[in-house]
Amino acid sequence: MKQGFIVLISGPSGVGKGTIINSLLEDKSLNLKFSVSMTTRKPRPKEKHGKHYFFVTHEEFAANLARGNFLEHAMFVGNRYGTPRDYVEKLLKQGKNVLIEIEVEGARQLLNNVPPESVLSLYVTPPSVDELVRRLHHRGSEDETTIQKRAERFKEEIKYQNQYQYTIINDDLETCINEIKTLIKEKMNK
Ligand code: 5GP
Repeated sequence: MKQGFIVLISGPSGVGKGTIINSLLEDKSLNLKFSVSMTTRKPRPKEKHGKHYFFVTHEEFAANLARGNFLEHAMFVGNRYGTPRDYVEKLLKQGKNVLIEIEVEGARQLLNNVPPESVLSLYVTPPSVDELVRRLHHRGSEDETTIQKRAERFKEEIKYQNQYQYTIINDDLETCINEIKTLIKEKMNK
């Protein structure tokens, strides 16, 4: 059976990744499974353990790290995030494509650890920092200090953009989603 490949997506929080990812997962022709990360962040109101993240304590995270259970891991605005290794490897062997949505430092590690042909890497960016802040306010799930920290982090992250194969500007959501779907289908047909 043909191995699957990784669809790696990064981009600042508030850029619309959640919506993009839901739409990609709904399209069965893409044969995608979402890689559920582990995090020490507290769940937001509608988030479910095991679906959006595995929410764990700092101690549990450290124990998983010590056992070598992460494909990559990083700190983001005071919390730790990591991609469980076994789950991703199992899905790829089963021929599934695996959607991994992580920040830029973890992406750097991942890109260093897997063969280049096994990844389609995408950076989704907002049209501007101002637009990002506006969207974070609109979402309303973070307080003002966190929004400012996330906007600052974005200015740092932008420097990593060239480690990705493609940068996609999310100005119009539907256009952005269609661009990503086309890239995935092209890679499936290679
Ligand atoms: P949020 O707290 O908004 O869900 O995620 C914050 C950031 O952490 C986002 O940029 C998201 O892509 C990233 N992230 C989520 N899961 C992981 C992971 O497993 N590893 C890494 N390195 N980053 C992650």
